[in-house]
Amino acid sequence: MVRVSNQETLEFQAEARQLLQLMVHSIYSNKDIFLRELISNASDALDKLRLESMRDKDLDVDTSDLHITIDVDTEARTLTVRDNGIGMTRDDVVELIGTIAKSGTAELLRKLKESKETTQDFIGQFGVGFYSTFMVATKVELVTRRAGEAEGTRWASEGEGTYVIETIEDAPQGTAVTVHLKPEDKDDHLFDYTADWKIREIVKKYSDFIAHPIRLSGADE
Ligand code: ADP
Ligand code: MG
Repeated sequence: MVRVSNQETLEFQAEARQLLQLMVHSIYSNKDIFLRELISNASDALDKLRLESMRDKDLDVDTSDLHITIDVDTEARTLTVRDNGIGMTRDDVVELIGTIAKSGTAELLRKLKESKETTQDFIGQFGVGFYSTFMVATKVELVTRRAGEAEGTRWASEGEGTYVIETIEDAPQGTAVTVHLKPEDKDDHLFDYTADWKIREIVKKYSDFIAHPIRLSGADE
């Protein structure tokens, strides 16, 4: 049983909301990059755990098998990217996922407002990070536990202004992001993110240089 406590519904900060709107209603055709962004975040988290474990000798963590897993549930049409990296505290999640701290993203929004160029050109150019998942998702869930902390956090959003956040008891250390794929993409070969070939293609194209092992499970062969 997962004990849940302290559930809150919070609003995204204004700029974050604007960016999310762009993603949710995106006409950008190269949606594949959402997976690149999730893998890049997972990889960063693994690097951070390794660094932190060297810096803080009291931190009791296992760094012998740092890896990324991509897990597909073809029935539920979900894709989960999991890492056993540094993880986030509840405050981290609110701060890092609920607001736009990144200068690159603020810059992207400014450019989009100023320019007549399409969103298309910009999204590929700037990494828009975690929010790019909303190009392919009706809902995104994140479960995380920071290394050294006892409690975990679950975050979920449909990208429309608010998110739900709660404290949970049995989260594994690290972060899992689950993307609930849009039903309208179901029969489109281009956006078949539950297919083994598709995931392998994206990983090869965008994440070939990632230094950590990437394991794939559950995808349709
Ligand atoms: P960026 O990676 O450029 O900082 P993102 O939107 O991709 O921007 O992610 C925002 C922040 O959320 C990251 O900087 C990181 O602090 C946090 N974050 C995202 N994914 C993870 C993860 N898998 N593990 C730990 N922290 C994460
Ligand atoms: Mg990122």
